[in-house]
Order: sequence, then C-alpha cells, then structure tokens
Amino acid sequence: MSSLHFDERVAIVTGAGNGLGRSHALELARRGARVVVNDLGGSLHGDGQSTDAAQAVVDEITAFGGTAVANRDSVATEEGGRAIVQTALDEFGRLDVLVNNAGILRDKAFHKMDGAMIDAVIDVHLKGTLFVTQPAFRAMREAGYGRIVNTSSASGLFGNFGQANYGAAKAGIAGLTRVLALEGAAYGIVANAIAPIAATRMTAGLLGDLTAHVTPEGVSPVVAFLAHEDCPVSGAVYSVAGGRVAKIFVGETSGAILEELTAEAVRDQLSQIEDQSTYHEPTSLDMATAIIARALS
Ligand code: NAD
Repeated sequence: MSSLHFDERVAIVTGAGNGLGRSHALELARRGARVVVNDLGGSLHGDGQSTDAAQAVVDEITAFGGTAVANRDSVATEEGGRAIVQTALDEFGRLDVLVNNAGILRDKAFHKMDGAMIDAVIDVHLKGTLFVTQPAFRAMREAGYGRIVNTSSASGLFGNFGQANYGAAKAGIAGLTRVLALEGAAYGIVANAIAPIAATRMTAGLLGDLTAHVTPEGVSPVVAFLAHEDCPVSGAVYSVAGGRVAKIFVGETSGAILEELTAEAVRDQLSQIEDQSTYHEPTSLDMATAIIARALS
C-alpha cells in the first residue's frame, strides 16, 4: 500500500501551539506538508498572549527537516482569519489544507453563565472557524482543490453539563462542515470534522483512567487522512480517541403519519415516532425534504 504524502501541499493548523493542534501540525509536516503553525499563545481560558507557542512548534518541525512558519493572529476576528490565510499565501504561494483546531473553555452551569463567557467561546470556536475558513475557502475554490478538517466535540453532538457555550459552538461547527461539503463539492473541496478525545491541558483532570490511552498522537493520523487528496468522504464527522475511529451521523426515523395531528396523537404515537428500527440519513436539506415528500405522497 502506498503511504500518504503531502509533498507540495500547504497546510494551516490553527491553535497548533499545544495539544491536538501541535500534534496535527507535526504529523502533516512529517508527511511533507509545509505548515502555517497558528497560535495566539494564550491560556486555556483564552486570556493573555504571553508564550510563543507557535514558534516552539515551528522549531520542532524545522529540527527534523520540515518546513513551517509561525502565525500569532487570533482566529476570533475576521481580520485575524484573513491574516492567517494570507500568511500561507505569502509564505508558500498556495493553500491546500485547513485544520480548524483552536479552542478555549469557559465552563459554567448555564443559569450562571454570563454574556462574556458565551461571547468568548462562540468567538473562538464557531466564529473563529467561519473567519478562517471563509478566506481559505475562497482561495481553495479558485484553485479547484481543498481539504478542510474542522474540530467538533461530543459535548456539542451528544451534550455535556456546564458547556452550553462550547456545546452550541461545537454543534454549529458540525453543521458548518456539512454546508461546506455541499458548497465545495463542485470545486474539489472536501470538508469533514472530528470529535476528538485526548489528554491535553483542556482535559487535565477530567479523563480519569482514560488519560494514559488517549494521546493527541492517537487523533492526528485521522486528521492526516481527512486532509489528504485520497480522502473520498465529505461532510462526515468522526469520533476519534486513542486509536478508535467511529462515524457519528445524523439520522431521522421513518416516523409516523398522524391522520389527525393533535397533541394527544403525538403523545399516543411517540414510540412509533421515536422508533429507530428504520431511519434515513439525509446528507442535505434537499434530500431531507424529498424523504418527507415521499412519506406524504
Ligand atoms: P489546548 O488548550 O491544548 O490547545 C488549544 C490551542 O488553541 C492553544 O494552544 C491555544 O493557545 C489556541 N488558541 C486559543 N484561542 C485561540 C485563538 N483565538 N486564536 C488562535 N489560537 C488560539 O486544547 P486541545 O485539547 O488541544 O484542543 C484542541 C481542539 O480540540 C479544540 O477545538 C477543542 O475544543 C477540541 N477538543 C478537544 C478535546 C480533548 O479531549 N482534548 C475534546 C473535544 C474537542
């Protein structure tokens, strides 16, 4: 079997100064990609900009003979997103791969969460992914080729106490990924997402016995596959942790057609509405609408 190389390819990895992003950047660089290592160098909560995390990872990459450049712009503003993408175009003349990974946490039970906590997390995760992806998508569309790997989370797809801001952002990123897959299809652009679990500063003290089994390096090969030209899927979300890779999908049950739609009829037929023994997995709104039209015809 041939191995997957990224020779001639240029990749951006956001939030690549620590944890998962650092591991993704190293993996892509080892496979020959020229990498823009983006990181603000802030704390887990998004404060400060003191450490030069991005340059430290660039130094690691150049030490093994790879090619990388540091960028310290924030993903959380439109100008920051533009500057990150421009760095790839200015330094390397092209952009083939975007890995949206930057992230922060501001956890609190929803009834105690203030507006600043909501803004900070939505800005970095959801708006940050939009702000970096839009200029990247435009460049990829023009080039007729692109690979986008977004970072969602089980927190948003399945729910997690204390993470209303983060969960909402991460579910939004999964939705964005599906739209990008549809809008990019005619232009050679493939977009997928991962929902990872890994021992990083973000999960310090939270993973218990799992900690030793779930390194960032147990996630990055999946990112490399999704970032490669050979990746045949688009619009998918994969759960990735410690060498386990599984598909997460959105399904719709075959449902029930209620002759007379009343609140009582919904109550009485809830088990049929919820019955998952047959289901559809639409990959677009058009497909979902066609399924409804067929059921009603
Ligand atoms: P981490 O804190 O180790 O790394 C996140 C990096 O993002 C940091 O280096 C930080 O400086 C950078 N960053 C933060 N705000 C930024 C901004 N505005 N602009 C640029 N860079 C910024 O955390 P991690 O665990 O490696 O998380 C990476 C991604 O994976 C995040 O999106 C996170 O939500 C997601 N994730 C992680 C886990 C896990 O188990 N670790 C689970 C689900 C999802």
